[in-house]
Amino acid sequence: MDKRFVYADNAATTHVSSEVLEAMLPFLQNEYGNPSSIYALGRRAQKAVEEARAKVAAAIGAKKGEIFFTSGGSEADNWAVKGTLARLAPKGKNHVVTSVFEHHALLHTVEHSGCPCTYVPVDSKGLVDPAQVRAAIRPDTAIVSIMFANNEIGTIQPIEEIAAVCREAGVLFHTDAVQAAGNVEIDVERMGIDMLSLSGHKIHAPKGVGALYCKRRCLPQNLIDGGGQEGGHRAGTENTAGIVGFGRAIELAAAGIPEKVRQVSRLRDQLISGLTQVEASRLNGDPVKRLCGNVNISFEGVEGESLLLMLDNRGICASSGSACTSGSLDPSHVLLAIGLSHEVAHGSLRLSISEETTEEDVAYILENVPPIVERLRAMSPLWERLQKN
Ligand SMILES: *Cc1c(COP(=O)(O)O)cnc(C)c1O
Repeated sequence: MDKRFVYADNAATTHVSSEVLEAMLPFLQNEYGNPSSIYALGRRAQKAVEEARAKVAAAIGAKKGEIFFTSGGSEADNWAVKGTLARLAPKGKNHVVTSVFEHHALLHTVEHSGCPCTYVPVDSKGLVDPAQVRAAIRPDTAIVSIMFANNEIGTIQPIEEIAAVCREAGVLFHTDAVQAAGNVEIDVERMGIDMLSLSGHKIHAPKGVGALYCKRRCLPQNLIDGGGQEGGHRAGTENTAGIVGFGRAIELAAAGIPEKVRQVSRLRDQLISGLTQVEASRLNGDPVKRLCGNVNISFEGVEGESLLLMLDNRGICASSGSACTSGSLDPSHVLLAIGLSHEVAHGSLRLSISEETTEEDVAYILENVPPIVERLRAMSPLWERLQKN
């Protein structure tokens, strides 16, 4: 097959779609008013921001006044945790409950807070047990934060059950839904979620914009002080164009979920069944409770970075862990959390496909990965050792 370009790293980022770009363009050029200004140019920008807020709220079943724009998913995660600890620590609550395989935006925030934290384990499929969350909650627990869907292995958590446990215990529940948005129906009211993080660039909006959904009664202390933007809760002149793009992107993503899941999970399962035919390979994560675009496979005796470089050479963009950890040689904390050895975790490949992925792309991946794995194994002392055992 001729060399193609196949983008299979949508969990790392996505391109800005033409509908989103079209919505943004006026605000990058002619409609440049500051949303805080009182003349018509400013008021039009403000109106656009408020329309985007309504779209974000509608996409997750929230009220408009519960959406606060941020610079992205990382800021939303930081704000939820740091701001809640700052608000509740004076009342004697500074303990955090989270899982061992959260995004680093959450894990590093908790670590740096220096607050006591209980890390709930995940099982071999990457699922959190709501009963273990309940057991981890203490009288001084300020917040529970468990991600909706994992960015590396795609596991979708029983969020409603976890939220119910928290509500019963009277503890705030935050979830990082950056990967779930546009892939799973989200209804914060029905699901009982108090706070939720979103990011634009994982759903075809630009990088550098996101939101924190938060119920009014549990607003965290400000992370960024300054002007009165976002109701005085998050200062800084609004990223008008980014916010408008984010609003359009989440509107489109939320409307397309059933169709996307049907179409993309079929291609995902073709990739999974094709790639797990490779000798000494395994699927990571739950086969069913899984994001429709996520494929994560470990190949024993293979070094992930080499695999990625050889795939790049064939025009395939993929990932071996999360983008934040590639470049370092530490194996993924997510793969270790589900019980993989360091060696097996190193040889893992994440393909994250989208509604734009075609049958031809899938065929191209299936044609290229197995021979590359074979070539790498032929050069690998580790594979030689494994063969002898
Ligand atoms: C990408 C990602 C983030 C970070 O979002 P940014 O907008 O890049 O800061 C947080 N959590 C998860 C699960 C992600 O996939």
